[in-house]
Amino acid sequence: MKIIKAIKNMRQLSKKAKTHNNIIGLVPTMGYLHEGHLSLIHRAKNDCDVVVMSIFVNPTQFAPEEDLKKYPRDFDMDRKLAESAGVDVIFYPDTKHIYTKDFSTFVSVENMDKIWEGKTRLAHFKGVCTIVGKLFNIIDPDVAYFGQKDAQQTAIIKRMVKDLNFNIKIVAMPTVREKDGLAMSSRNKYLSSEERKAALVLYRSLQEAEGMIKNREKRSDNVLKRIRSMVKKERLARLDYASIVNHKDFSSVSEISKTSLIIITCYIGKTRLIDNLVVV
Ligand code: AMP
Repeated sequence: MKIIKAIKNMRQLSKKAKTHNNIIGLVPTMGYLHEGHLSLIHRAKNDCDVVVMSIFVNPTQFAPEEDLKKYPRDFDMDRKLAESAGVDVIFYPDTKHIYTKDFSTFVSVENMDKIWEGKTRLAHFKGVCTIVGKLFNIIDPDVAYFGQKDAQQTAIIKRMVKDLNFNIKIVAMPTVREKDGLAMSSRNKYLSSEERKAALVLYRSLQEAEGMIKNREKRSDNVLKRIRSMVKKERLARLDYASIVNHKDFSSVSEISKTSLIIITCYIGKTRLIDNLVVV
């Protein structure tokens, strides 16, 4: 496995792979790897000849009061996990090379980036799209892998790829959960043991909603009422938002259908956790 820090070297490797007609798969991450990230790597390994995983804690997607400085990092652990999962290249650039002093160009997917996650985290998706666009230009992958766990992010990336004509296939992979249902996330590390138990309220509410929908409930407001009351009962949880949306553009829907997605975000203590469930 190669570890590449310089943009120039990354470009050279991709160019060489392309001359051999190798399919390049990219898995963009912020590191502190868990099974969720590894599921994307396994899929990329299955589909592609060369698997590149980027590790970059992207400052432009964090608001000033957010957890950029204390975001968990462990490059040694990531390196070992990536190698045993079969990653061919870790692209691990320095912030100063990605964002040079005079950096001034951003990508934003308008409207969709201002709702839900984008409403609480104002410049978040602009930062995400900018870094993902840069990674696409540097690495030139054929396929890129994203998690359903960050459903709005994945939908926004798909829109960016379509709107800006990136010649890249986007594959969305299902959310990997702990045995008890908590969606895996690097931020779960922040939870105390009491908060860890309370955090289950996200998945419990989604399951409850799923049960209602299976029992033919079609009205979003009825389902959302139940979700809100479940979260309210959990002392350490505070609901940021819950909604039922169209899976492509994230607009709210009043009637639930097969294209709907239930989204929920809660603060558990100071930690903000997101989750969602596809209605099938
Ligand atoms: P992050 O390092 O948190 O930026 O995540 C990198 C990629 O892994 C993103 O596409 C995430 O959606 C995906 N991911 C994170 N957690 C999970 C999970 N529990 N299951 C599946 N994919 C995930």
